[in-house]
Amino acid sequence: MARFAYVNGRFVRHADATVHIEDRGYQFADGVYEVVTVLGGEFVDKAGHLARLKRSLGELKIAPPFSDAVLETVMRTLVRRNGVKDGYLYLQITRGVAPRDFKFPKVSKSAIVMTTRRQPFKPELPSEAGVSVLTVPDIRWARRDIKSIGLLAQVLAKQAGAEAGAFEAWMVDPQGFVTEGASSNAWILTADGVLVTRQADNAILHGITGNSIEALAAEQGIKVERRPFTVAEALAAREAFLTSATTFCLPITQIDGKPVANGHPGEMSRTLRRAYFEYGKSRQDAPFGWPH
Ligand code: PLP
Repeated sequence: MARFAYVNGRFVRHADATVHIEDRGYQFADGVYEVVTVLGGEFVDKAGHLARLKRSLGELKIAPPFSDAVLETVMRTLVRRNGVKDGYLYLQITRGVAPRDFKFPKVSKSAIVMTTRRQPFKPELPSEAGVSVLTVPDIRWARRDIKSIGLLAQVLAKQAGAEAGAFEAWMVDPQGFVTEGASSNAWILTADGVLVTRQADNAILHGITGNSIEALAAEQGIKVERRPFTVAEALAAREAFLTSATTFCLPITQIDGKPVANGHPGEMSRTLRRAYFEYGKSRQDAPFGWPH
């Protein structure tokens, strides 16, 4: 367990960290969040995550609690205090505390909490078996591009996946197209060697990891097409994989219990995982991180 959390201006012992019962995050899920990977004590894709945070706050008209520079200092301090070399930082900003009323309060002070967790990251696959996904209907709201803390649909999707022995749930829209994973973006490699992932509109969260992976793939001359794909297309694909800050790039070898290609991780997902790890280690922020 991490030693410290950051809560509204103070570093407190994790076990003592609390927020008010009338925080609008608790009452209405009226807030946003970010998850930023830490590799070798440094943030990966920091600029992209902070830009997306700003955009999410702006879309909900929640005032940022501090400037970017102060935010970054607090993030770094927490990572250092908790001795995180590899792992991630979770940060959440809500509209703050106010008497319960659906409308925005006339006056409120945005509330912010941050926690960290240690997790090792390796360029190799965590398992040669790859991971499996379960498909579920996408029952979320229409602004999935906002990284909202309202995650109940994803909780239900992940739980259904876990009960079926799957690592991730792929959410499917009413037209039969995969939107994304419950906490990751969805990708396939077609038989003719084209990477396909859904276009970054309001139907999905614009993944920062996926954006960087797209650019790393393009650097290697791999064609990327941004369009929806169906579950049947994924099952017929050469490879399928998922991307997110905490998993980097993981090959999917089974969808609803059926094998993808020969049922083993493919070369493309291995290559892109390694490339993202190296990019993360290089401690640079990609100019292509956000917006794209
Ligand atoms: N899609 C959803 C719904 C997510 O929750 C996440 C990450 O939490 C992602 C995609 C991947 O985004 P990122 O690569 O920025 O972690």
